[in-house]
This record gives sequence, C-alpha cells and structure tokens, in this order.
Amino acid sequence: MNRRPCASRRRGVTARRRNRLSRLHHARLCNEDLDETDLLMMDRAVILAMEAARDNEVPVGAVIYNQDGIIAEAANNREASGDPSGHAEVVAIRRAGRKLDRWRLSDCSLAVTLEPCPMCAGALVNARLGRVIYGVDDPKAGACRTLYSITDDSRLNHRVRVSGPVQEQQCRQLLRGFFRDRRRNRILP
Ligand SMILES: [Zn+2]
Repeated sequence: MNRRPCASRRRGVTARRRNRLSRLHHARLCNEDLDETDLLMMDRAVILAMEAARDNEVPVGAVIYNQDGIIAEAANNREASGDPSGHAEVVAIRRAGRKLDRWRLSDCSLAVTLEPCPMCAGALVNARLGRVIYGVDDPKAGACRTLYSITDDSRLNHRVRVSGPVQEQQCRQLLRGFFRDRRRNRILP
C-alpha cells in the first residue's frame, strides 16, 4: 500500500514550511530570538484562536511549551466560563501549572496570538515564565511593549524575554473579522 501522502497534501505541507521559514528569516532580521518550533507553536495558537471565534469568544489562542513539547494550550473562554480572567494566557498558565504540578514555569515559553494585556503580563511575571512570543501588537491593552512593558520592568522581580509581533497579518485579520461580524450581527461586546 502506498503510505506516502498525496501530492496536494505534500505541496500544502511544503508551502506551510516554506512560509514558516520565511517568517523565521524575517524575525531573525528583526533580531528576534526565535526558532522553527516557536513558529509551529504560534501556528497552533492561531488554530486555537480560530476555534474560539467559532464559539463566539474573542479569538485569542495560547500554547505553553518547553523542550519536551506542548505542556498546555487554551483559548479565550470568558463567554463560556463567565470568568473575567478567562484570557487564553491565564487559562493556559493555570493548566500548565496543574500539569507540571508547580507554579514556576521558567523553563517554558508561551506563544499567544495577541500581545498580552496587563493582567496576563502580570500572570506571566508571577509564573516566572521564560519567554513569550506574540502574534500582533495590541494598541488598546498591550502590556509587553505597546502600552506598558510589564514583562521587562526592572522594578519587578522577574523579566520575561519577549518576541513579537511575529505573525501580524493573520492574527490581526482574525480579530478584525471577528469584530466586524459581531457589529454586523449587532452583538455588543
Ligand atoms: Zn489578557
């Protein structure tokens, strides 16, 4: 039996890898501290964000990983949980802590589609997270670089290495499309 994937699937895989390598090249030109695994994890975070949009949640996805692979992943779930702190990053940090049975995540990285807000950036510092890689800047709440630099504040007791924005177009389109559809359907935020 022929176990090789069909030609169109192979072409799709090759195209996605070529796209990742081109993003990696661009990120390195911008002196970002990234490797191909980081971008694979960002791709996974984008899929989680798309799933969140289908559930009428603001589309943000997050993946926590280390050298052993994915530790935890989550999407924004504020609507379903009724929890104001149900941002993807906070949910993923809680899941990672439970899975590893420890609250210090200094060996872990977080890939998230949107620049973390002050609450999430604070949670990253409190979790002693090693790195965060985010998809697109958040001009309204970004707390890693855009409005605040909570993850890189020398007055706090931990700093998180930050790379971003690394996937601007796709992550921005996801959010814009989601809010455009909500306005069209007159669903209030
Ligand atoms: Zn947040």
